Amino acid sequence: MFKEIRKADILLFLFFIISALVLFARDFVTASEGGSVEIRVDGEYYGTYPLSADDTILIERDGHTNWIRIESGEVFMAESSCKNQICVNEGHIHTVGQSIICLPNRVVAEIKSQDAGTTDGVDAVAR
Ligand SMILES: [Zn+2]
Repeated sequence: MFKEIRKADILLFLFFIISALVLFARDFVTASEGGSVEIRVDGEYYGTYPLSADDTILIERDGHTNWIRIESGEVFMAESSCKNQICVNEGHIHTVGQSIICLPNRVVAEIKSQDAGTTDGVDAVAR
């Protein structure tokens, strides 16, 4: 019984440490460390673009247009045909996990870590 409690405590402790590390690493995995932006339109995968190269992505769907711009490792909605313009006003994003959402046009752009399999975040902190 006593042994079981200790085991659970250790697992809980490890869980908190790992959670903290993941959150910490996320903040440091930015565009310059090989991030990319994943775009989804109407819930469907549209494409992934590296943040290391400046680019403009035009999305046209059902008469709606969205211009997503990648510039200096940051992503922003340059132009949108939507009425509320919330996506345009959201400004620039560059951190893994951040996203720009255009609800009326159903366009989502989310920053992803390009090499999700590695623990690159730790390296990024040391640099
Ligand atoms: Zn919008």
